[in-house]
Amino acid sequence: MTRRLVLATRNEHKVHELRQILAALVDDLDLEVVGADEVEGAADVPETEVTFLGNARLKAVALARASGLPSVADDSGLAVEVLGGSPGVFSARWSGSAAGEGAARAEKDRANLGLLLEQVADVPDEHRAAAFVCAAVVAMPDGRVEGVEGRVEGSLVRAPRGTNGFGYDPVFVPAGDSRTLAEYTDEEKNAISHRGNAFRALEPVLRELLA
Ligand code: IMP
Repeated sequence: MTRRLVLATRNEHKVHELRQILAALVDDLDLEVVGADEVEGAADVPETEVTFLGNARLKAVALARASGLPSVADDSGLAVEVLGGSPGVFSARWSGSAAGEGAARAEKDRANLGLLLEQVADVPDEHRAAAFVCAAVVAMPDGRVEGVEGRVEGSLVRAPRGTNGFGYDPVFVPAGDSRTLAEYTDEEKNAISHRGNAFRALEPVLRELLA
């Protein structure tokens, strides 16, 4: 029997990546993966925690309560070493107010990325280390909640390159490569990304909770 799993995000890029990642990991579970937009009663939850896991937990628990369905949330961002881990949980709103939808989101992504590049303009290549971090949390309507974190290490380039992905992808080069994440295919990105790593770590938990 097909079961519905709701994703606590309205970011179409994340929904796209998570559908692909979950299809590769738990295809046999016969899940219908739907976005928060597609279920009744799902309201946006303010991200008031100061950790990725805390915010992902808030979003997943609220959605499981509102929808009565198993819910998965991702909270993610970029941690730049020389900035002490910023923008971190403020990645989506680094240059100001929260992201909008569609074109507004793309514009916001560009503004965030432009500000970040300005802030590290004087930082030499050997000090441009950064990591993408993703917390993945699954919450069940009966109150059970589990979460994990995934990372990908890399560094910041000086000018955006590539057109795939979203957010800070055009300025992030994974360790050991020379291409930015925006020059990766979807499959290549999912294979090494913070989101891919987080959901690979969540797989056994998902199997146990959804069995
Ligand atoms: P969230 O929706 O609160 O989790 O915010 C995540 C923000 O972090 C996004 O708006 C992006 O700016 C950034 N981010 C997270 N994951 C990625 C990624 O895979 N690529 C590029 N930027 C990302």
